[in-house]
Formats: sequence, C-alpha cells, structure tokens
Amino acid sequence: MSVQAAATAAYIVAALLTVMSLAGLSRHETARSGVAYGIAGMAVALVATVVMVADSVSAGAVALLAVAMVVGGGIGLWRARVVEMTGMPELIALLHSFVGLAAVLVGWNGYLEVEAGQGEFQAGPTQTTVAPELLGIHSVEVGIGVFIGAVTFTGSIVAYGKLSGRMKSRPLTLPGKNALNLGALVAFAALTVGFTVAPSLGLMIAITAVALALGWHLVASIGGGDMPVVVSMLNSYSGWAAAASGFLLDNTLLIVTGALVGSSGAYLSYVMCQAMNRSFLSVIAGGFGVESGTAAAVEGEHREVTADEVAAMLGDASSVVIVPGYGMAVAQAQYPVADLTRRLQERGVEVRFGIHPVAGRLPGHMNVLLAEAKVPYDIVLEMDEINDDLASTSVVLVIGANDTVNPAAMEDPASPIAGMPVLRVWESKDVVVFKRSMAVGYAGVQNPLFFRENTSMIFGDARVRVEDIIKAL
Ligand code: NDP
Repeated sequence: MSVQAAATAAYIVAALLTVMSLAGLSRHETARSGVAYGIAGMAVALVATVVMVADSVSAGAVALLAVAMVVGGGIGLWRARVVEMTGMPELIALLHSFVGLAAVLVGWNGYLEVEAGQGEFQAGPTQTTVAPELLGIHSVEVGIGVFIGAVTFTGSIVAYGKLSGRMKSRPLTLPGKNALNLGALVAFAALTVGFTVAPSLGLMIAITAVALALGWHLVASIGGGDMPVVVSMLNSYSGWAAAASGFLLDNTLLIVTGALVGSSGAYLSYVMCQAMNRSFLSVIAGGFGVESGTAAAVEGEHREVTADEVAAMLGDASSVVIVPGYGMAVAQAQYPVADLTRRLQERGVEVRFGIHPVAGRLPGHMNVLLAEAKVPYDIVLEMDEINDDLASTSVVLVIGANDTVNPAAMEDPASPIAGMPVLRVWESKDVVVFKRSMAVGYAGVQNPLFFRENTSMIFGDARVRVEDIIKAL
C-alpha cells in the first residue's frame, strides 16, 4: 500500500472517530468517552498528515510542521490548564477565530499558487497546477473559502470581546443595518463572479475586506441575550470554513469533519433558538427584523435581608428550589451551595435545582459546575421540568442569575429579551436573590423581580453569603 493510500485510510478512521466523539458528547454519561474518541481521532489525523508530508514534500517541511505542532500544542496545553471555567466561552470564541483565519490563509495560498501563478505572479517550487477547465471551480472555492473564513474570523473576535467584557454586550444599531448586511452579501456574490471570470489581486482583497467587515457587523449587531446562539453559530461557521479549506487542499478529512462540525453546530443553534423563542434566520442575519425597542423603566424599592434572616426562612421551608446563574460560576459558589443542599435535605427539606438553557456563558455551564460539586443529577431539573412547580415552592434561592429570571421577558414586549422563556421564580412564596449590587445582567436589562414584594436581596459575593447562611443554620 502506498503512503498516500495508507494516509487516506487513516483519515477515514479519524472521521469515524469524530462521528463517535459527537455521539458520545451528546449525553452526560458518555461525554468522557466522547472526548477520548475526539482526541484519538485528532491524533490519528496528525500522524497521518505528518507521514504524508514526509513522503511527498521535503524533510525541511516536516521540521517546520514539527516546530508548528510543538509551539501550537504547547500553547494549547498551557491555556487549557490555566483557563478558569468562567473564561471558557471567550477561549472557545478565540479558537473559532483561528479556524477562520486559517481558512482565509488557505484561500489566499490557493490564489497565490493557482490563479496568480497563471499570469502576473510566479509562486515557489511547490506550485500547484489545476487543469484549465477546472480553474473556474478553483476560483469559486477560493472566494467561498476566504469569505466564510473571514466572516468567522472577525465575528469570533467580536464574540470574544463581548464575552470577555472587553466590548459592550449591547447590540450595535447602525442606520440601515439590514441593508448593510444584504449589500455585503450581494457585493460578495458579484465579486466572486468577477473573480471567477478574471481572477485578480484587487478582487481577492475586495472579497476579503467585505467578508471581514460583514463578520464584524453581524456579531456586533446581536444583543447580549442572543449571544449563546451566536457562539454556537460561529462554531458552525468554523466547521464550514474548515470544510471549504478541505476542498482547496483536497483533504477529505477536513471536508468530512468540517461538515460534521458545521451541521451539528447549525442544528444546536436551531435548537437553542427554539428554546429561547428566537427566529433562527433573524439571529444568523445579525438581528434581522428585530427592532431595538426601549424597555419600560423599572422603579421601586428593594428589600435587603441578612444571612441570619435567610437561614430562618430556610428553616421554615418545606421545599426549596435553587436557580443558579453566571454569578455562581464567578463566585465558585457551587461547593457551599452543594453543602447547603445536603444540610437542608438532612432537615427533611425538599431541595431541587432549576436550570435555564442559557444560564451562565456556555450551554450546560451550570450542569458542569453542579456535577463538579457532586450535586446528584436527579435533583437538577431543566427549566421546563420545574417551571410549573415554582408556584408551590416555599423559597427560591436565585444564586447569581439575572436575565434568566427576569419577568420583563414575559411582561414587557419592548424589552430586548422579550419572548425569551424564563424561570418564573416570582410565583413561589419567597424569593432570595444573591448578587453583589443592583447591576443589570448580561443582556443589559434591569430586572423588575428585584422590586417585587416577595423578593429579598442578599448582597455580596455569592460564595461568602452562602457560607454565612450555612453558619447561621
Ligand atoms: P446574568 O449574566 O444575566 O447575570 C449574572 C448576575 O450574577 C449578575 O447580575 C451579577 O450581578 C451577578 N454576579 C456576578 N458575580 C457575582 C458574584 N461573585 N456573586 C454574586 N453574584 C454575582 O446571568 P444568567 O445566568 O441569569 O444569564 C446568562 C446570560 O448570559 C443570558 O443573557 C444569556 O443569554 C447570556 N449568555 C449565555 C451563554 C450560554 O451559552 N449560556 C453564552 C453567552 C451569553 P452583580 O454584578 O450585581 O453581582
């Protein structure tokens, strides 16, 4: 068997391992093996690629590849070790931007080697040749690859900025934003047709610039509440960008894995849109059709309680629901929360958790934290499973959640989060909200829950406050 044939066979094995990885990752119980399959698939693909390069190119190329792998692998290992759980979403957004950038570079490389090499520009000794009748197809691949890559690149950088707090989460509303997005798409189509008919450096630069600007604008126009869908959408785009690179590099593994990531990311985004009552098309088109209304002003007085008072409230309760949010992750309060749960259960109190699908900053963020603190799965319920029970609950403890328990989503049609399903915590007898101030949540919307008669606020770091309550109990 030739080296090339062996590498192709290895690629098929790697692609199958990727499918098994995705299947494993879809359930709690099998997630670990899913990760293991993914690692094995990547390892097989890397070895096959190095062997293929060693066989078909020069020893110098293998040395370059080895240096790139050591540097890239080293940085990856270091980041994965030091990243905080709360920093995960922005790290993922940054990694998506690398996939986009790689696709842009592959596209430019394709152009320099083929289209530019046909006339005005002579590339190096590894010049690729494409049969004249296939040149048009190559040019379309270059245009689409660069376009998807560049949109993913700048879109992911904006997502990184918004998730890390370096950019405001409020949507950017330029006048005629929908016309701008549509105009960019039309310009891309026209430029790609022009590039296919008569490839030129100017058109390459124009396609890249239009796509970079579109990616930036699409994600900048999305409000904080819709960011979860955008993150999974960018995941999908990064898959399509990899698949586009696969066509240019004639690499079946990139095509298969890219398409898998692209389609599963798109499906996840669709499911999240349904869970959040959002239009899928509107979100991928940068908030198309969403008019930015002005939320009703929220006024009133809030009531503050101490840890001793909350402990007394819990002492009298027969059922407690804990609703965690991003603040629990920031405070790392899951450990005292798990301890509090055990102590209340020992006193005969029924304790359950209510998890909103977009609580925190990652799909499944709260489930991971609670599993880490050894909270049993069977008392951790999804929003739809617990919402109807909240009216018969004695006390709801809202630990660092805000947007996901905001009644304005149901009551104020002008609110930026209008229509998003939320946990109806205000229906319970008493609500205690743990946070550090009266500040707004990620979507930037004030929360009328804090001013309701049955709501009490306990200010301070959630971890410290829960520990205080445990002491008082
Ligand atoms: P929010 O982000 O709406 O609110 C978190 C609250 O936690 C803040 O109001 C903050 O108030 C409080 N907080 C922060 N640090 C602490 C601390 N140390 N101790 C106590 N409280 C603290 O949280 P939710 O989980 O309710 O909502 C998630 C939001 O993030 C949604 O808008 C969602 O769309 C968005 N999002 C979700 C993603 C996902 O995939 N899950 C991805 C991207 C965005 P204060 O500052 O006063 O303490």
